[in-house]
Amino acid sequence: MIEVADLTKEYPNGTRANAGLSLTVNEGEIVGVIGPNGAGKTTLIRQLLGLLKPTSGRIRILGCDVVSHPHMIKGRVGYVPQAPLTYPSLTVAEVISFVLGLKGLRGAGLRERVMETLTLVGLEQSAGSFGYQLSRGMARLVLLGMAICQNPPVLILDEPTAMVDIERKERVWHAITASGARAVVLASHDIHEVREHCTRVYLMVGGKFIAEGPPHEIAALTRLSTVLTIVADDSQRVEELLVESGDMFRRKGDVFEIVFPELVMALSRLELIRQGIALRYVHLEAPSLERAVKQLLLEGRVQ
Ligand code: ADP
Repeated sequence: MIEVADLTKEYPNGTRANAGLSLTVNEGEIVGVIGPNGAGKTTLIRQLLGLLKPTSGRIRILGCDVVSHPHMIKGRVGYVPQAPLTYPSLTVAEVISFVLGLKGLRGAGLRERVMETLTLVGLEQSAGSFGYQLSRGMARLVLLGMAICQNPPVLILDEPTAMVDIERKERVWHAITASGARAVVLASHDIHEVREHCTRVYLMVGGKFIAEGPPHEIAALTRLSTVLTIVADDSQRVEELLVESGDMFRRKGDVFEIVFPELVMALSRLELIRQGIALRYVHLEAPSLERAVKQLLLEGRVQ
């Protein structure tokens, strides 16, 4: 259903957001791409949607090349963006009606589909609420409704449960699985959520997939000890931050090697460092991670 081969994106300022990504989504799969902030997930999603032209590589959705036929995306792929878009002066039902109206639906058929969609995303009680009255979680459910109301065969979701409260998260997942989409790919940074709901997971760090497999195996990989190597513009600030966090680290000139008992901890520390300090080099190494991935390869569970 979705086939990505050797995808690379370099932004005009020289940032290489993806490098050599290959990914497949088969019929019936819900595939999660997980990774910390800055890993390159949104870039990948925007490339899949034909919104961002890859520097190199190939993307096919439902057999069609996305780069040369970006218009095919419009009718066949439902998309939920990360940005919390809102329509303050329209009611929830009006927003969904508008999308369906563009597709040519009218009258009783239109009203019926609006109600079906609102029921699916759990907003049937809020049909008459205006955009400005909605919580951020509800606004995201409206976006999900806009994506699934047209029964698209493929759904592409960027952090679909970000800013959604726990109760509504379940509703989001219910709507995704009940939407009738035949292939779903979503970006997330929540390993627990992905473990519960995805059929397969790709783990992305620094623009590359470092592992791929069934969710419970990827979740197990994230518990392995990991060495994070970084070089920053401001080494003094990195050192202060690491001392403050109580991390185990070694410094050789500007190169910091930090040891974490779990990959997930390395990822969240990396996220924290990146928020305030520009990094020139990032490398994650988990000797046992490599071993575990090789084992998966040997057992034929990962291609
Ligand atoms: P994620 O969604 O995993 O947080 P992104 O795809 O947003 O990751 O970002 C990947 C990398 O690309 C980051 O280093 C980010 O700063 C950079 N990046 C994202 N968008 C742009 C852009 N328009 N121009 C330059 N660099 C960008």
